[in-house]
Amino acid sequence: MTMNSDPTLLPIAPGVHVWSPGSTGSWGLANCGLLTAGGQSVLIDTPYTLSLTDDFLAAAREVAGPGADISAVLTTHGNGDHGWGNQRVTGAEIVATHRTLEHQCFEPSPEQLRHLVEDTDPEQPLGWYFRRHFGRFDFAGITVQKPTRTFRNRMDLLVGDMPVELYEVGPAHTVGDMVVRLPEQRVVFAGDVVFAGDHVCHWAGPLGSVIGACERILDWEPDLVVPGHGPVLDPDGLRAHVRYLRDLAEQARTLHARGLSPTAAARHLIEEDRYPGLHLPERLVITLASEFRHLDRDDSEPDILALMDACSRIAWHRDGVAAVPQAG
Ligand SMILES: [Zn+2]
Repeated sequence: MTMNSDPTLLPIAPGVHVWSPGSTGSWGLANCGLLTAGGQSVLIDTPYTLSLTDDFLAAAREVAGPGADISAVLTTHGNGDHGWGNQRVTGAEIVATHRTLEHQCFEPSPEQLRHLVEDTDPEQPLGWYFRRHFGRFDFAGITVQKPTRTFRNRMDLLVGDMPVELYEVGPAHTVGDMVVRLPEQRVVFAGDVVFAGDHVCHWAGPLGSVIGACERILDWEPDLVVPGHGPVLDPDGLRAHVRYLRDLAEQARTLHARGLSPTAAARHLIEEDRYPGLHLPERLVITLASEFRHLDRDDSEPDILALMDACSRIAWHRDGVAAVPQAG
């Protein structure tokens, strides 16, 4: 759960840079991208907070040149850790899927998150977990920006002479996910359809749709895939991730058929140590709850607070902080 103290923009292909503020085992420190060509610049996602965004923009302007104008931000999905810095990119178009625009109302607001970090009981799992994973973020001053340009299915644009293709692949991680394909560079920015090094936390699902999105990316035969969180992957890395997703979907079916709750199913997989080496295993409860809703044909919205509470209780129990309070 470390934060890179001085994240830099790393070039991964001509005109393509990645900014990675975090490493595995953390929430909220998402990868961002910078595309530059012919004097034009476009960002892929912005960070969670205004100060992180200022750091990212300073690095981006250094790479793009002093007069460079950032014309657009491509927002991969509606989670705050991928777009709450958008207000700092003044004058830029904010491009997202139409469903991401609709999805924003289900997200906790910056104020609600601040409340969860500051006003919850640190002696209880939820307060302990939020302080531990979100206490490093300053959510002050954020005004969530609506996308200014939305699309369905597919949208193409040019950054200078660089072709950029946007594909709607949700509902998968959220209802409105998109991935960004750079066909000439053979790079794909996958947003949170792909996590590297950490367990996934898919709020929408089902896992079959996430797997479908990953396979679509693999069909493009990219050289590099930038996940929403964690290190950049090659195709073999993404194939390994798909094997994990397939196994998790199968486990979900089996454990659901045995009548387990998402919490009991997550604890079972953790005790079995089925996926060694992946961080944040408590997030299994979120993904399993999404999968179980689909298996139950329940199309209600995820109860984000209840899921975070279940997640916190599992982490609390694993860390042996204290006897686990009874789940409500
Ligand atoms: Zn994310």
